[in-house]
Amino acid sequence: MLAEVRGLQEECGVFGIWGHEKAAELTYYGLHALQHRGQEGAGIVTSNGQELKLHKGQGLVNDVFKRFDFSKLGGCAAIGHVRYATQGESTIDNVQPLLFRSQTGSMALAHNGNIMNAYELRGELEEAGSILQTSSDTEVLAHLIKRNGRMDSISGLKDALRQLIGAYAFLILQEDRMHIALDPKGLRPLSIGKLGDAYVVASETSAFDIIGAHYEREVLPGELITIFNDGMETTRFASEEKRALCAMEYVYFSRPDSDLNKVNVHASRKRMGMELFKEASVDADVVTGVPDSSISAAIGYAEASGIPYEIGLIKNRYIGRTFIQPSQELREQGVKMKLSPVRRIVEGKRVVMVDDSIVRGTTCKRIVHMLKSAGAKEVHVRIASPAIMNPCYYGIDMSTKKELIAANYSLEEITEMIGADSLAYLSSTGLERAIVSDDSLEQGICMACMTGKYPVLKNGQLEIAYTKC
Ligand code: AMP
Ligand code: SF4
Repeated sequence: MLAEVRGLQEECGVFGIWGHEKAAELTYYGLHALQHRGQEGAGIVTSNGQELKLHKGQGLVNDVFKRFDFSKLGGCAAIGHVRYATQGESTIDNVQPLLFRSQTGSMALAHNGNIMNAYELRGELEEAGSILQTSSDTEVLAHLIKRNGRMDSISGLKDALRQLIGAYAFLILQEDRMHIALDPKGLRPLSIGKLGDAYVVASETSAFDIIGAHYEREVLPGELITIFNDGMETTRFASEEKRALCAMEYVYFSRPDSDLNKVNVHASRKRMGMELFKEASVDADVVTGVPDSSISAAIGYAEASGIPYEIGLIKNRYIGRTFIQPSQELREQGVKMKLSPVRRIVEGKRVVMVDDSIVRGTTCKRIVHMLKSAGAKEVHVRIASPAIMNPCYYGIDMSTKKELIAANYSLEEITEMIGADSLAYLSSTGLERAIVSDDSLEQGICMACMTGKYPVLKNGQLEIAYTKC
């Protein structure tokens, strides 16, 4: 049964470094390269071996660390976080990393994902005497770790992780170590790199490139890695299962220059465009893409079709993502302010407009209208992912079924609603082909919001009781 509970959904990005004298500054640069994953808050916690220090705030990385003196943080290890919240409390308390102090040491946590059983776990913890400071489910892990004994016990940490159901990429910093953990299905992206002798870890490899680090490997699903001064130790808290890395990371969220699970995002998007042409060709004069996330797929469609790719839409870079606006009305205004058509390119033309996905349908409708007002003779919308029919329970803002246009209207109805001359989505097999190159355990992807096949269930069900980064 699919229980429909409106969640406080978030994306978010995490970055960590161990063994570098400029740990805090490098984390700051790393967070810049992950800024697209969250613009609501940012923070860094460092360790100098004796104590943990925190600086965090609401807003963009640049604002939070404006004229900041990084020597105040110091230390050779750091974790950082960028937070994206579309609904729910945007208080400073929920901005991560979260820092907890106890008589046996301190612990800072940064998390990307969603713990599906956080509500139940909070209830159990409260009954056992815990008082939680935030409404973030990240805090639940900290209490579970502490409940299981000393904070520096790896077996206690593994037991705590085993109690979580959902999607998570966790970085946990203590005075003398950093832990890295990925959920048993590997739903969220998390890679490890090296910068000289220092270890780095990040949601996306774009954060390695910005600091000159090189990629080493993926964090494996169900793996717990602990980094100390004298090296790295790895263990599993869950048995090896086929990975279910979020397909929407490739479709929309991640930066095109990032490699997720060794697959480059731009290249996969280009293949989505090529597959889309194979499945839904149309006679047209130009192909254009919605900047920025659909450009790669539009290039792929153009290359496969032989129809010239053109810049038919220009993005105003100084307006944030449309989803940040909480109400539908503001979101619609946001689209208008964000994009402008290039009249001379589209006037009198049959235009193929490639977009990465349709969620509520607002963006597409506006763009079709915009292109037609600029003189486009026909607008054929091609979507480089399957129709999104189901909510996401794993940390991505896919709202409720009620708001997903494809869950409520037929293809013909949507075509009419958005005012397009034709509309086609990529099939789920086409999307899989564009991302996955072989059948190995590591290569699996999640497409649950498109196919309804959810890789992780809570007690055999789907229900969001509580969700946070
Ligand atoms: P709309 O159909 O107007 O709700 O917005 C769809 C557009 O928002 C897509 O073209 C994507 O670029 C982007 N998008 C897709 N999924 C999400 C999401 N979960 N959060 C924010 N933006 C998204
Ligand atoms: Fe990603 Fe969709 Fe799976 Fe959520 S349900 S993890 S958005 S592919």
